[in-house]
Amino acid sequence: MNTAKRTEIFQRLQAANPNPTTELEYNSTFQLLIAVILSAQATDKSVNLATRRFFPKHGTPQELLALGESGLAEHIKTIGLYKTKARNVIMTCQRLLELHGGEVPENREALEALPGVGRKTANVVLNTAFGHPTIAVDTHIFRVANRTGIAPGKTVLEVERKLNKVIPKPFLLDAHHWLILHGRYVCVARKPKCPQCGISDLCEYKTKTI
Ligand code: SF4
Repeated sequence: MNTAKRTEIFQRLQAANPNPTTELEYNSTFQLLIAVILSAQATDKSVNLATRRFFPKHGTPQELLALGESGLAEHIKTIGLYKTKARNVIMTCQRLLELHGGEVPENREALEALPGVGRKTANVVLNTAFGHPTIAVDTHIFRVANRTGIAPGKTVLEVERKLNKVIPKPFLLDAHHWLILHGRYVCVARKPKCPQCGISDLCEYKTKTI
């Protein structure tokens, strides 16, 4: 795919949604971090249903720590891998308080050192909370990047690197959200909605749906 096409794709995605953001609900950078940890292999919807119940009373590292691992597990039972996630969240709260004064650090290395935080989670937090032009390649972005031809790659890291290289600079900050939302609602996994897709004439997917 050439640069002109990529630029046109992002211009259209931007025109359709000028201020994209995450669908996770949060009121602080800390809550965003916790919501992203909980969202691994789970839907944003299921995470929001759970966090709505406990963020109002347990929305800071101190409050979550006081709730404890089993207390938190009770609140997130409906989310996949909840036991591991409860353990990671509580350990993350401990680390944040011990090492960062209860604040979420604005750097990749420190973020990735937190339990339950990998490259993808760090990218989401750096982008959404701190405005860094990072791209967290999840299953949706991976699919869209490959199907469209924007940045084909065999692994998430390869796709992330390519996206960072080929997306025109003015679109880099929001590209992450545009691609996720496009994959979640239009370029869906089983049967992409090509007839309703705003970039179908630019997309290079060989077997578009009619
Ligand atoms: S045309 Fe189809 S395959 Fe291409 S981006 Fe749109 S929905 Fe996805």
